[in-house]
This record gives sequence, C-alpha cells and structure tokens, in this order.
Amino acid sequence: MRWSFNVGRIAGIDIKIHATFFLLLAWIGFVFYRQGGTSAAIDGLLFVLLIFLCVVLHEFGHALAARRYGIKTHDITLLPIGGLARLEKMPDKPGEEIVVALAGPAVNVVIAAVLWVAMGLFAAGIPNPEMMEQTRTPLLVRLFAVNIWLVLFNMIPAFPMDGGRVLRAILGMRMNYARATQIAASVGQGIAFIFFIIGLWWNPMLLLIAVFIYFGASSEAALAQMRTISRDLRVSAAMVTQFQSLPLHATLNDAVEALLRTSQHEFPVTDELGKVHGILTRDDMIAALRKSGAEMPVAQVMRTDIPSVPETMLFDRAFAVMQECRCPALPVLDSAGGLVGLFTPENVGEMIMVQSAIGSRSR
Ligand code: ZN
Repeated sequence: MRWSFNVGRIAGIDIKIHATFFLLLAWIGFVFYRQGGTSAAIDGLLFVLLIFLCVVLHEFGHALAARRYGIKTHDITLLPIGGLARLEKMPDKPGEEIVVALAGPAVNVVIAAVLWVAMGLFAAGIPNPEMMEQTRTPLLVRLFAVNIWLVLFNMIPAFPMDGGRVLRAILGMRMNYARATQIAASVGQGIAFIFFIIGLWWNPMLLLIAVFIYFGASSEAALAQMRTISRDLRVSAAMVTQFQSLPLHATLNDAVEALLRTSQHEFPVTDELGKVHGILTRDDMIAALRKSGAEMPVAQVMRTDIPSVPETMLFDRAFAVMQECRCPALPVLDSAGGLVGLFTPENVGEMIMVQSAIGSRSR
C-alpha cells in the first residue's frame, strides 16, 4: 500500500504504518492535550501505544488463522480504521473465509474479557465513545472500551472491515463469488454513504472512515470482477505481441530513437539468441540520459529484477506477479524460453473492458 512505513517484522510478517494512522494519533493527542495539558498528552501517548498493540494482535489473529489453511501473510498495515493484514490470497471456501475474518475480532473479545475479569469492571457500565476521550477514566477501562469498539467496528458488514468478509462468505454459500462480492460491496458503499452524512455534522473522523470503506468496497468488487472474468484466460490471450526489443549492445541513443518511433514505454533488452536480459523503462532511460549522456549502453541502465512469465500462466496469476514486483511490464516467454510478448497494465485494463462487454451481452 502506498504511503506506508515499515516499522518492524514479527513471525515473518512486516508491520507497516499508513500515513493516515498519524492523523488518528494527532486527533487523540489534540483531544487529550485540550483536556489536561502535557501530563494528559503523555497519558494519551501510552494509551495510543496500547491501542496500537491491540490492533496488531487483532491482525495477527487473521494472519495465524490464515496460516492454518496454508495461506501466507505479506504484511500488516495500520490504518485509522484498524489494521489490514495483506494475505497472499483469501481462502476459497466460504467457511474458511469466515474463520479467518472472525479470528481478528475474536482476539479483541479475548483481550476485553481478560481486562473485564482482571480489573473487576462490573461497575464500569456500557462502554461509549466518550470514555475513550476522557482522561479521568482509568487507562485499562478505556482500553477495555477500545477493544469493545474494535469488535463492533470491525463487524460492520462493509469492506474492508471483517464484517464485510463475513457477509460475502455467507452470501457465497448461496451464490457465486463474484455476485456475493458485488452485493457485499454495494452494502458497504451504502454504509459508507450513511457514515459520510452522519460524519458531516457529528464527527470528522467518520468522514475519513466513510472514504476508506467506500474505496475498500470498490477495490474489492473490482478484484472479484477480474478474478471471475479472467478465470480461464492465459497470458498469451492478452499480451502485446507487436513490440520492439533492444539488443544488448544498444546505446541510449538507439533507445531514444525506438521510444520516439513506437508507442512503447518499456523495451525488453535481448541478446543474439533472443534471451531476455532486462527491461529498459522510459523513466530510467530519461534519468540516465540526464546523468550519463546518449552513448551509455542500455545494458547498464536496464532493470534486471523483473521476473518473466510463461505464456501459459493464468491471467490473474500474472497480474499478481506484476503487482507484487511493481513492474511496468513483464516479458512473456514460450516453452523454449524465447521472448514472445509483453504483459503490461494496459493489457489488464483492456482485457477487463473487453471481457465485461462480452459478459454483459451474453447476459
Ligand atoms: Zn480484522
């Protein structure tokens, strides 16, 4: 996810903080400082640190449940609405998706229960949002309230909240995955809209949450759509086959000529046998021109960290590879290892447009 910073690694999972998480910290810090000055702000900081911990534990609930089904977790990102564990993939079976989705809130239920028992909180009453903002309330009581709110909040049936996944999985038991996602995403967008309206005159944090839910729902729906329409498609059906390569001994001068002559932005660099050695991108080309001049060999400027994919690979697998390496284009190879095409983000966009046009006609 863009705008996130790496802060550590636990059990093989990277922990990241999204820039907007600091907005939440700033808001809490401001509220506390206004109520009780510096000492309250320090108290607030400790409180925030403990919230941080509860959210991380929540995400580890998801990650460890997913691990039970053999699914790895790339990283955990902290957002103002909670955390986001980026799993390698979602479980295919609705039952497993429900377990993974519920494992997060279950962690907060356990934390809340432990706090409840340990502190003898029976007299604390029903937690409410004001309790989180009041400095006079004991820290652990506030932490208890936070965990209750984390549970309630995450069970809102909207993507990217856990409740959205549970809803999709329940729907998925009765209909296909794409349809279930579509309905769950629409419910999520409706909830986002309601939050936005309430947020306008009640709490600005709710506006931020509404925006997150809205985009979360949209991207989930788009992902499900792509998975459905590209189910049996191979890379060879959607790659660019008319393209220009550069020989290994080419200079930036040759590359510039090719750039101007074609509509291509990325050029595979190949040897005499047709083997790919790297990809020269337009940005790298321009940067190198500025620094070293036109006689620089492309072999010294090209990216060599770009993986190639076989033409028989499934379309959505190749898309995942491209997202994973943040590559502008992937070389596509035939069974003999020869370069036969380029797989680009434009291919993905066009393929989705074409397939959904065909799909809507046949309906
Ligand atoms: Zn969760």
